[in-house]
Amino acid sequence: MENCIFCKIIKKEIPCEKVYEDEAALAFLDINPVNIGHTLVVSKKHFENIYDIDEDLVAYLAKIAKKISIALKKMGASGTNITTNNGEVAGQVVLHYHIHIIPRFEGDGLAPWPTRKHKEGEMEETAKKISSML
Ligand code: 5GP
Ligand code: ZN
Repeated sequence: MENCIFCKIIKKEIPCEKVYEDEAALAFLDINPVNIGHTLVVSKKHFENIYDIDEDLVAYLAKIAKKISIALKKMGASGTNITTNNGEVAGQVVLHYHIHIIPRFEGDGLAPWPTRKHKEGEMEETAKKISSML
């Protein structure tokens, strides 16, 4: 993936602040953190997002996200948000699968996502639809 910024980081063509590395994964600090300690976990092999990555690899990267969450907690975070943006509509800018681990602190002012109400019957219908697609 010639123009992928994360592939370039993995190949050490551009630098990063590494926090963890093994044969399959790399974790490094986000260049524009939501909070200090915001870390990205990436697969060394290029996959675009949740739709094409191997499920075993997702599980493996999730384990690393858990380790990093615990490290951030030991460093003083009160919680973490762990998230992956899949697709441009979801805010994915770098099209190389990655997990964000964002440390959260009391009073950090980061608003929760807005929520909405279901219409009559919509909740049941939606659950059935998702379930039938699995
Ligand atoms: P996305 O929006 O694709 O889920 O998140 C991409 C993340 O990668 C952003 O939070 C952005 O700040 C981070 N990022 C983009 N380019 C670089 C880079 O060159 N180095 C590092 N360390 N982070 C980057
Ligand atoms: Zn890549």
